[in-house]
Amino acid sequence: MEQETTIKGKLKQMSSFKFHYCVGGNATGFLASKGAVKEEGLELAGHLVPYETIRDTTVRDRSLVLTFSAGETRLPAEVAKKVESQFLVMIISGMTARNLERLIDRRASSGEVERVRQQLQEQGEGHLFRVVSCPHCQAQINLSGTPETAFTYCRYCDSLFGPGLAAVRSTHELRACDECGFYDRVQGYGEFYFYFLLFVYGFRHGRRHYCDGCGAALANKLLLYNALFILGVPNALVCAVRARAGKAEQFRPLARANKLAKKGKLDQADELYQKILKMVPGHPGVLFNQAMARALQGQLEPAVGHLSDCLDRCPNYLPAQRLAHKMGLYDN
Ligand SMILES: [Zn+2]
Ligand SMILES: [Zn+2]
Repeated sequence: MEQETTIKGKLKQMSSFKFHYCVGGNATGFLASKGAVKEEGLELAGHLVPYETIRDTTVRDRSLVLTFSAGETRLPAEVAKKVESQFLVMIISGMTARNLERLIDRRASSGEVERVRQQLQEQGEGHLFRVVSCPHCQAQINLSGTPETAFTYCRYCDSLFGPGLAAVRSTHELRACDECGFYDRVQGYGEFYFYFLLFVYGFRHGRRHYCDGCGAALANKLLLYNALFILGVPNALVCAVRARAGKAEQFRPLARANKLAKKGKLDQADELYQKILKMVPGHPGVLFNQAMARALQGQLEPAVGHLSDCLDRCPNYLPAQRLAHKMGLYDN
């Protein structure tokens, strides 16, 4: 009995956290509020946000961003007040924002697949029910009614998994870049500018998430800005090293390939993409980049070819579905 209480206590501790709402880019309130990941929803300062209302979760460093549908009416009024154009931003303490995101995704995804299972059973189509668990974040991914394909996309942690990918180091860091949209390794970078004007001098420090190509471009920009002021240079060098070091062998040529693709040097880019595809055959992220490269140059026919290859291998790959929408390939 005593042991059970301890386990219960530990579970409670593991699912509770503290947070500050972030409105207009600034943390609000002096004291942090209490939050908890409950069975039926996320509890924020005593107000329950049902998991069904959360469309997406994203983490950027210490912040957790929850996305809701436009005009969502099931949110408690106190929480709805803090939502800015569908987004609720919180700065998390007491647990990492990444761990909190995983807890929410695990709960929300199992609720979602359970609803799908019941619905299919009621319709007498229980045999269509198919679910896989993401090896990176353990969320449940609903694949009911879709054919079995080589690759699967986890919309909860933005990772792709499939044959041979378990052996690739840090695959969970590979996703579509916030900045340029291409698939590559994406990491957080501290941006550091130091500037000196006649009587004014100051710092600007921020943090953004870039792919390796955008990270290298950032390092060059920082070096240029800071060339005269030695203070910012070490930071620029750190950026340059981060963008180049420690990447999984198979995906090393990606940044260069994407750079060539953005410049319109498609033959050279394709050569590198093919080199990666030899190591990870049919990888949807690489096929997606080939589609992006062609689309950027207005070569719609080959872009559609790469895109349909990509979606054949991984029908639920969201960035490819979005690109297909943009290109008007879907009716709705
Ligand atoms: Zn996942
Ligand atoms: Zn990028």
